[in-house]
Amino acid sequence: MSSVKVAVRVRPFNAREKGRNAVSIIAMEGKTTSIYRPKAVATDQPKTFSFDYSYWSQTGPEDPNFANQEQVYNDIGKEMLEHAFEGYNVCIFAYGQTGSGKSYTMMGMGTREEEGIIPRTCLEMFERMDGNEDSNLTYSVEVSYMEIYCERVKDLLNPKSKGNLRVREHPVLGPYVESLAKLAVTTFGNIKSLMDEGNKARTVASTNMNAVSSRSHAVFTIILTQKKRDTLTELISEKVSKISLVDLAGSERAKDTGAEGKRLQEGAKINQSLTTLGKVIHSLAEQASSAAKKKKKGEKSFVPYRDSVLTWLLRENLGGNSRTCMLAALSPADINYEETLSTLRYADRAK
Ligand code: ADP
Repeated sequence: MSSVKVAVRVRPFNAREKGRNAVSIIAMEGKTTSIYRPKAVATDQPKTFSFDYSYWSQTGPEDPNFANQEQVYNDIGKEMLEHAFEGYNVCIFAYGQTGSGKSYTMMGMGTREEEGIIPRTCLEMFERMDGNEDSNLTYSVEVSYMEIYCERVKDLLNPKSKGNLRVREHPVLGPYVESLAKLAVTTFGNIKSLMDEGNKARTVASTNMNAVSSRSHAVFTIILTQKKRDTLTELISEKVSKISLVDLAGSERAKDTGAEGKRLQEGAKINQSLTTLGKVIHSLAEQASSAAKKKKKGEKSFVPYRDSVLTWLLRENLGGNSRTCMLAALSPADINYEETLSTLRYADRAK
């Protein structure tokens, strides 16, 4: 079994695409997603990829590839939450160009039906904890929310903390962010208000491509601790799982957004961390498949965690005893062909 699951999701056309009479170049069937060249002629073959899930959004439930927020959560979020309760670290990433649906998939919109993976995961986690009838089992939950912008870390739950936080390494526990707020939460309402507060504090800046585009990675982390008392020995065993939910910076390349100066440097740093993340996930997927095929022992590929702050901080959530899901968000439109193809290739390498 590969430790990395990969899903792709196409959003409906947006106003800009409709205004430019854009046409759809994506087709989905079962697990496969195909992309056609813009203005393709009948003899053109599309490029076809296969993923764990290929989600369509423009039709309705009669289409087997159609998925609303609930479906995406049921397929991906639920499984990851289950792994967390089993004691694994888990990580879900949303990757894609700005405006492709990353925040929609992870956070969602205001209404209950349109809530994304993060609020749904939190809600179900508390429902499970509240339903616990085992008096020897207790739970506690802490959350942190940080933003990585140009390789620098900011605390979204403590906006008053001026400046950037230091990234350090603990000899046993590994990489961590010094002084990052970890807040204890006991209800879904608690977590929801912290999330809303953190979202308001995110750094956003304009580019030519979209009025407002997100240039930073947002990492929401839930630390779930389960303490179980053994009724015979009275000993307490503890299971700690980290659930990291990551809304990545837009993947559009700097050249497409007409960036110059500071914005160009910003683009280079974003590309560097997304490239490193891609390499890390690819090496992990390779390790998992070579282990499955029982290749030569000891032939482990090098995993370049240290090459970006994002992968370094997520090391414990990516390698070893952890489960990862990459969700790639796509535009359906011909005018985004290059970006969409590059997102599909990125998702394909993660398998
Ligand atoms: P990103 O986070 O990648 O920049 P957003 O999540 O903000 O993009 O999505 C851009 C717009 O598209 C938002 O208005 C959002 O509501 C809409 N949208 C994205 N994905 C979907 C979807 N699957 N179904 C309906 N609307 C969507």
